[in-house]
Amino acid sequence: MNYAYDLHIHSCISPCASDDMTPNNIVNMAFIKGLKIISVTDHNSAKHCRVIERLTKQTGILYIPGMEVQTREEVHVLCYFKTVEAIEAFDQRLEVLKSKVKNKPKVFGNQFVCDENDEIIEHVEEALILSVDIGIDDLKRLVDDFEGAFVPAHINKNANSLLVNLGFIPESLNVGCIERFERSPIDKDILAKYRVILNSDAHYLESINEPINHLALERLTADTVIHFLIGKG
Ligand SMILES: [Zn+2]
Ligand SMILES: [Zn+2]
Repeated sequence: MNYAYDLHIHSCISPCASDDMTPNNIVNMAFIKGLKIISVTDHNSAKHCRVIERLTKQTGILYIPGMEVQTREEVHVLCYFKTVEAIEAFDQRLEVLKSKVKNKPKVFGNQFVCDENDEIIEHVEEALILSVDIGIDDLKRLVDDFEGAFVPAHINKNANSLLVNLGFIPESLNVGCIERFERSPIDKDILAKYRVILNSDAHYLESINEPINHLALERLTADTVIHFLIGKG
């Protein structure tokens, strides 16, 4: 069956996202739009995964735990996992590698963590806009360790992308799926070689995708989605 998805949405933890991107607002908007699979992929943070999983369970939407990691090369990579436990363990390993420079909310934006009632319970202190001190190869290995999917983000965008920052997709990364940025041209050979997903990269509620992109899956489970994103099945 075909399931409408949006696997790249930022919540109010991400400094660049609107403060209105609270867990309830995101899940409700996805539900109203008729999406069947979503992921909230904050910059270098998994702090909303648990609450968003809980909220999506009441809607029938399949939630895929995800994070948009910025590597030492300033490349953005979408990292997806089968369970919240897996992404939290992954996040734990990244913790020591994250920048300890304090966020400047007035310059970069707020980094709010909410509970399931959208009450603010924490302001993340470290600036999540900065790179994690991990190279792209090591990040791939770490994602593999937790049986996750490593999907280079907005690969043809002119900033923070594998193709612009590195100039190519290293074979050693064994990439199965890429995220395409719709507003820039992309080489046809790349489209032919990899699985491709299209997401909103929403920073505002109204930017969350309409049900226009679909994944063809046998079953609506996180295992099936991760399997697809790894490039198998
Ligand atoms: Zn990005
Ligand atoms: Zn993003």
